[in-house]
Amino acid sequence: MILRNKFRNNLFIYYSSIFVLFTLLILGYLYTREKEFRISTLNDELDNITRVIDNYIKSNSINENGNWILTDSIVRLLPQENLRVTIVSPSGEVLYDSSVHNWKTMENHKTRPEISESLYSDFGKSIRKSETTGEEYYYYAKYYSRYYIRAAVVYDLKVINFLDAKKYFLIIITLSFIAIWFVLLAVTNKFGKSITRLKEFAVSVSNNETFDFDSKFPKNELGVIGEEIISIYNKMLKTQNDLANEKEKLFSHLNALNEGIAFFSQDKTKILANNHFIQYMNLISGELTISSSNFFKVREFIPVLEFIEKQSGVERKASDLPKMEYQISNNGRYFKVQCVVFHDDSFEVILSDITVSEKGRLIKQEMTSNIAHELKTPISSIKGYIETLINELGMGPEKQKYFLEKALAQSDRLTGLINDIVVINKIEEAGNTFLKEKIKVLDIINEVRDNFKSAIDGKGMKVELEVDDNIYITCNRSLITSVFQNLLENSVNYSGTNTNVTVKLYNQDDKFYHFSFSDNGVGIPEEHLGRVFERFYRVDSGRSRKSGGTGLGLAIVKNAILLHKGDIQVRHKIGGGIEFLFSLPK
Ligand code: ADP
Repeated sequence: MILRNKFRNNLFIYYSSIFVLFTLLILGYLYTREKEFRISTLNDELDNITRVIDNYIKSNSINENGNWILTDSIVRLLPQENLRVTIVSPSGEVLYDSSVHNWKTMENHKTRPEISESLYSDFGKSIRKSETTGEEYYYYAKYYSRYYIRAAVVYDLKVINFLDAKKYFLIIITLSFIAIWFVLLAVTNKFGKSITRLKEFAVSVSNNETFDFDSKFPKNELGVIGEEIISIYNKMLKTQNDLANEKEKLFSHLNALNEGIAFFSQDKTKILANNHFIQYMNLISGELTISSSNFFKVREFIPVLEFIEKQSGVERKASDLPKMEYQISNNGRYFKVQCVVFHDDSFEVILSDITVSEKGRLIKQEMTSNIAHELKTPISSIKGYIETLINELGMGPEKQKYFLEKALAQSDRLTGLINDIVVINKIEEAGNTFLKEKIKVLDIINEVRDNFKSAIDGKGMKVELEVDDNIYITCNRSLITSVFQNLLENSVNYSGTNTNVTVKLYNQDDKFYHFSFSDNGVGIPEEHLGRVFERFYRVDSGRSRKSGGTGLGLAIVKNAILLHKGDIQVRHKIGGGIEFLFSLPK
């Protein structure tokens, strides 16, 4: 509202000033015209008077007889008010003056401007205050060869009188001023509305308040401009929102990433860092209170600092993004540190936890050498038996059979080893491709028990099952078979003789059945218990090998159960022996 009034006030001031200026100009022009007209009328009037007087003087031979007082009679007959007639001799002596009685005492009039002018022009004129009457007179003088006749009237073209005479004109001017002002008000009202809307818009935008975009602008140029401005603003707002959304998405994405990412400006100030970045920094530095702005204070990140400093100020193409990466290991964890420098010397640092892949790589490396080592023993045994058979040709059939059986046992061991390696590799590399189905656990256990029937009987062992007939698990048949097979085979091989094996379903929850597999044999010494699930780990390698063990059995058991999202633990059994507690999905 204030703005609209201000706009209107300003408009009023401009408009009034222009109007007053125009009025003054018109009045000035009219005044000048009036003055000119008045003077020319006066000139004609006074010229006629001087002519009449001249004729009178001539006809009465006043110049000859010097009876100038006679002139009074003609002057009195003339209708002009306040008329003053002066007759001056060519030498400047006043011969007659209608307003002064003792004109003979009057000073010489030769130098009066109108008198001297009339000598060279048709007539002479002058406007000045009369010393005699004190009033302003218009003097008109004409030279008639033997005398000058000067006629003067009160000159009354004063501005105030003029204005008074023009009062109707002034009233009309004022009225038209008011009328035009109202028209102008109506016009500016529309513009004012547009300006007010624009102002409200600008104020609400700068105060971050909501603006009613729907109320329309008046239909005029300013309205169109206003609507354009608001539509541009709306577009800008939309772009800004889109950008904010994208930024939000980027932030969520950064936080969802497994990598720790941080962006830094040229002066190494942190711009943005995701949660993982701070977490990994803490793990790497070993300090739990460190913040991402202290990145360069961490000893492990000095190579990044050196790299950044080497890159700063170096001229390069926008597409060139210098990169560096190195690995850090700390407390059994492995991290990859990467740094990418952008064209404006700002840069990003990526911290990746590569523990799993790095450990996997190390395990694979270890496994490869273990496999090589494990394969070497049966192969060299087989080679040894065959060499003996070739070298000792006179060997009796009894002995030959012995060596051949030994070689066969070693090749069985080789096959078992290769099978185990294949299974464990398959679980690790293509775990998700195993088909799962609902299977009755008892079927699997009975099948496995039947497989080992002769060995179980041979060792005087007993297998007790405390699992109901209606227990079904969702699993891959061959993997879960190999779980029970490995566990039972171990009991057969390591528990001793006349032992009891018990398989029990001891608990269940929403998702899992919890099983216990135990024997009451020799058990596993405490110091080995924590490592029995490692690949190729054997408690007594001589005994294990002898029994055909590969050291992979329990590793297969554990991996197969983990693949089914279950869990397995091993513990001593009260009263001797070993117990495995594991869960399998319903
Ligand atoms: P292996 O193929 O040699 O049997 P496993 O991974 O199956 O390897 O077992 C690891 C080690 O744990 C075996 O070498 C054995 O010494 C020990 N072990 C496993 N099960 C039993 C058990 N029921 N009783 C005693 N020792 C066991």
